[in-house]
Amino acid sequence: MQLPPHGTSRAELRRMMAAARAHDVRWREGRVFSLVYDAGEDVKEVAQEAYMAFFAENALNPTAFPSLRRFESEVIAMTASLLHGDEQVAGNMTSGGTESLLMTMLTAREWARAHHPHIVTPEVVLPASAHPAFDKAAHYFGMRLVRTPLRQDFRADVAAMEEAITPNTVMLVGSAPSYPQGVVDPIADIAALARARGLLCHVDACVGGMMLPFVERLGYPTPPWDFRVPGVTSISVDLHKYGYTAKGASIILYRTKALRRHQLFASIDWSGGIYASPTMAGTRPGGVIAAAWAVMTYLGEAGYLERARTVMDVRDAILAGVASIPDLHVLSDPDMSILALASETLDIYLVADEMSVRGWHLDRQQHPPSLHMTLHYGHKDIVEPFLGDLRASVDAVRRPTPRRLIYTLLMVLMRWLTGILPERWLSWLTQRAAGLLAGGGQELPQRSAPMYGIMGTLPNRGDVKELVLDLVESFTELNTRSGQ
Ligand SMILES: *Cc1c(COP(=O)(O)O)cnc(C)c1O
Repeated sequence: MQLPPHGTSRAELRRMMAAARAHDVRWREGRVFSLVYDAGEDVKEVAQEAYMAFFAENALNPTAFPSLRRFESEVIAMTASLLHGDEQVAGNMTSGGTESLLMTMLTAREWARAHHPHIVTPEVVLPASAHPAFDKAAHYFGMRLVRTPLRQDFRADVAAMEEAITPNTVMLVGSAPSYPQGVVDPIADIAALARARGLLCHVDACVGGMMLPFVERLGYPTPPWDFRVPGVTSISVDLHKYGYTAKGASIILYRTKALRRHQLFASIDWSGGIYASPTMAGTRPGGVIAAAWAVMTYLGEAGYLERARTVMDVRDAILAGVASIPDLHVLSDPDMSILALASETLDIYLVADEMSVRGWHLDRQQHPPSLHMTLHYGHKDIVEPFLGDLRASVDAVRRPTPRRLIYTLLMVLMRWLTGILPERWLSWLTQRAAGLLAGGGQELPQRSAPMYGIMGTLPNRGDVKELVLDLVESFTELNTRSGQ
């Protein structure tokens, strides 16, 4: 693939793009339960208008664009007040939850360098369910994560966290809620522990920060998690999730300016002039900031509350529907609108495959196997068709078919092989499997239960990691055909 020698007409471009997305997941019909958050056509238009109006502006230098500086400050202030922060709270917009978590980890490391200089490798204690962006941050910044097991109800086990604290620990983490099972960790206990030990405490409210305040106002029992909890020192909130704004928008908030100071960067001797920036990015798109400001101002408290009410009604209906299907249940008791479908009796990955065939895109989770659902406003009309297809899928999985028999035999065989084969052979087999996966066409396979099942049986996690990295490599290979 090379740059086309003579360019392409705009009509032709539109045609090419429409063709390219033919096999994308159908989020507009509410058939996807992660990746996209939809608050309705009007909200999308508000975001798009604001984005386009500030399409070219750059927030790298806030003195050049007082407009963006004002929007960003107001977005941060609106978010902080929603989370009961006082005037001491300081924060920044970032490009997403990952960058917000990178920032809180960097801040913890720099805070430790300033206040506990004897610590060589700072450690962070967090529950098993916390987001992998923390691992990414530890990987980037030379820190160490200590993950602790969850309680039976999938919430953080604070006693286990306390046991994991060492002289090198700098921060404790809890999620509000966790992404896999949608439960809020016991933040008050985690924060009290952090306070007693003189540690920082981050609350990852990336997915819950723009939803839980309204869930609480609707009268659902909501455990404390925001700046009202003493000992919480920072919180991350994604606006591009339940804030329903354009992608590339998240907020990192610190309880004090002094703590936030550790995050900032300045280079003062460059020949290009003095260069300072608060977060990872240099150039920052003005459109994202304007869209966040516009959507929050357009919806206001009443708009978010109304959407949260609809979402919680959908959640309640799905919970009731799932409870009426034998063999299926929801893990734990979700605090918000995120839930995980599981089964004691059926292979839940097979249920996911049946749902894929019926046009529903559910992410497969592990430890234990379950199917992820993030419910948002765009799901308001799917309850009945979804539950109908879920019942049909469970019925289909209960009926034996040759395909399912082969799958079951394959799983038994794999478990037996992994028990007896030398490790070298298993590595070789895993690499062959990687080749097969990476080589598989452009469309996502509808039936993936064998793949997830086999991945789960492979004993050497190092091999599995290499396999996944092979896949990541294959996503941007240079010889990909042009998108016809
Ligand atoms: C989505 C999410 C993140 C990461 O956010 P990105 O915007 O995908 O980078 C972190 N933590 C939790 C709990 C999340 O749900």
